[in-house]
Formats: sequence, C-alpha cells, structure tokens
Amino acid sequence: MADKRDYYEVLGVERDATADQIKRAFRKKAVKLHPDHNDASDANEQFAELNEAYSVLSDDQKRAMYDRYGTVDGMPGGSGYVDFSDIFGGMGVDDIFSSIFGGGAAGGSSPRDRARRRAGRDMAISLSISLEEAATGCKKTISYDRLAPCEDCAGSGMGEGGQEKTCPRCNGTGYVTTVQRSIFGQMQSSSPCPDCGGEGTVVDTPCSHCGGEGRVRTHERLDVEVPAGVATGRQLRLHGYGEAGYRGAASGDLIVTIQVDAHERFERHGDDLVCDVHVGIAEAALGCVVEVEGILPDEKFELEVPAGTQYGSALTVDGHGMPRLGGGGSRGRFVARVVVDVPARLSAEAREALERYAEAAGEHAAGTAKKRTMGDRIRDAIDDILD
Ligand SMILES: [Zn+2]
Ligand SMILES: [Zn+2]
Repeated sequence: MADKRDYYEVLGVERDATADQIKRAFRKKAVKLHPDHNDASDANEQFAELNEAYSVLSDDQKRAMYDRYGTVDGMPGGSGYVDFSDIFGGMGVDDIFSSIFGGGAAGGSSPRDRARRRAGRDMAISLSISLEEAATGCKKTISYDRLAPCEDCAGSGMGEGGQEKTCPRCNGTGYVTTVQRSIFGQMQSSSPCPDCGGEGTVVDTPCSHCGGEGRVRTHERLDVEVPAGVATGRQLRLHGYGEAGYRGAASGDLIVTIQVDAHERFERHGDDLVCDVHVGIAEAALGCVVEVEGILPDEKFELEVPAGTQYGSALTVDGHGMPRLGGGGSRGRFVARVVVDVPARLSAEAREALERYAEAAGEHAAGTAKKRTMGDRIRDAIDDILD
C-alpha cells in the first residue's frame, strides 16, 4: 500500500480552507473522479481516497486531530464514510450522479461495487521510551488488538464452495434509501446497506471463522525497531499492520507515535543535551576539569571549566549530545549549565583560608577571625572531627 497522500492535497485546498471551500472542492472532484465516469485504472482508489479525505476534513473534530497528528485513527469512527445526503442536499449518491449524468443505474458488478471494497484503516498507537533508548535506538515489542486477515479463508470471507453474489437487499448498489416523515416534510436519506456493509455483494457460504468478513479480531505482538535519535512526536509507519481490509482488501498501516520520557538529568533541546554541572567556588574561580557522564552507556568525557566561570554560564562540548536521527553517528552538543556550589558549612581550616581570601580581596565578610568567639572555634573543631 502506497503512502497516504495529504488530505488537503487530495481535495486541492489550502490548509486554512473554510468548511465551505472544502465542501465545494469535494463536490467538484467527486463528479470528476466518480468511477462511473473516470476511465483511469485506479479510478476506484482515487474516489475512495477523495471520500476519506472529505470525511475527515468535513468534520471539525477529525480535522483538528488530523492537523495535529496527521491521522485520525484511534478516534471513534476514524476515517469513515461520507454521508452524501449531507453534501448533495438530501439526495443519495446514485440520485446525484444519475441526475448529473443521466441514467447510470447500478448493476451488480459495476466498477462502483469494487470501489466500495473497503481497505483496512490505519491504526495509531503510542510508544514510550526513555531518553537513553532514544539515544541508542532500541527494539520494542508492542502488543495491540486489530482486525487481522482471517487465516481460514485467506481473507476472502468465503467458506468451502462459497461464492460472491449480488446483495439482494440493495441490489448491488451498496446503499439503502430510507424515507422518514418529520416536521420538515419527507426526508430521504441514503446509508450503507446493513446486509452487505456497503459492499454490494454478499457471500452465499460465508467462512465460519470470520463470518464472511475476511478478517478476525486478534491480539498482535510486533517488534518495532526504533532508530537512534528519535524525538517525541516522531511517527513510524508499519505497512500493512493496521486493520485488515474487508474481504481481502488491502490492510491499513500501523502508525507508532514515539513519546520520549523526561530524563532526570538531561533536558533535550533538539539534538542538544543540557545538564547541570556542579563546581565549588574555588573551582569556578581558578578553573578545573570535570568528568561528566554522557547519555550513551558508559560514556564519560571531560568538561573544561575555565578560570572565572560564573554561576549559570553555559559550556558546550561538541559531539556529546543526542545522536542525530539518520545522521550516521553525528551528534548534537552537550551543554553544561554551571552551578557554583557555595559551601554551607566550612571546616576551621577552610574558614580561615576564606577569611584570608576576604581580607586580600577586600571583601567585608561577616564573622572575621577577630569577631568570632571561642565558642565558635570549639564548635568548628568538633564539626571537623565529626566530618
Ligand atoms: Zn446490500
Ligand atoms: Zn474467514
């Protein structure tokens, strides 16, 4: 199954098109692409694609979801059928095409029947991984429920000796028209035939395992290769692992959306990894080299902190950030956010040294040697021993 085209592209409208523009675009294209009047070999697919695009973009909720995630699967209803009666003002699809083109009565094996062969829908699932797993790439097993092709009948829906025949209820059109009385008068509406599910054909001896659908509900386990460097929101498309098609029609895809969990130490900014690095006041003032642990297993490297580094300054090391997706081993930057730890408690020795420093630097620190009492000194000496 080929990649799905963008729904806006299918309808030929801009992304900010109004509901009205979308409806007009659909109407125009539906007339042009209808399989009864379109000789292209893939006329059925073109028409089905158009219907699907319209069914999503004409529904505010589905459109919003599509804009956000690029798919509507997982949403109740998914990308389903277009209610033609809504677009063409109460007329069913056959009515509208016969009124435009004259005639066009539905026969049991017209191309339109095949157009309704329902391809399986795409399905969506989300997969959470750790930042470490995103950095190295990983293999994950996902399990999910889907309609898979029936193994007993190889997806045909037919039991032994069974065959397809025209649905007697809808006469092969796939639609049934109902007339209702309401305060507005008679309302005529068209809906997919409940007997054949809009297919136009039924199976005379259906497969006993799948009841003629050609697909059965199964619990699947599937290994997914997650490439190194993925970020949250990245989608992996697994062809053919979505919902199986009706009676052997193509299966949809499974779309796996990656969610990378927050990390306790690293913040990710694109391919850069930002991380707090702690140094002492003397280390910040005099400069030092800190050994840092990276995101890859056992990755260690040195970070040079130059003399006079200020609290909050950023120091970068190239090539120690996140691996770039498809980047052949190239990586982003490691960005250290320097945190200067001011000691909360000083040993007697350190205090004296710092007091000497204060005097030399002309800082007027409180609690200089002269003002400290004997009690303070004893307390410090005890602290030292306890340390
Ligand atoms: Zn029917
Ligand atoms: Zn079957």
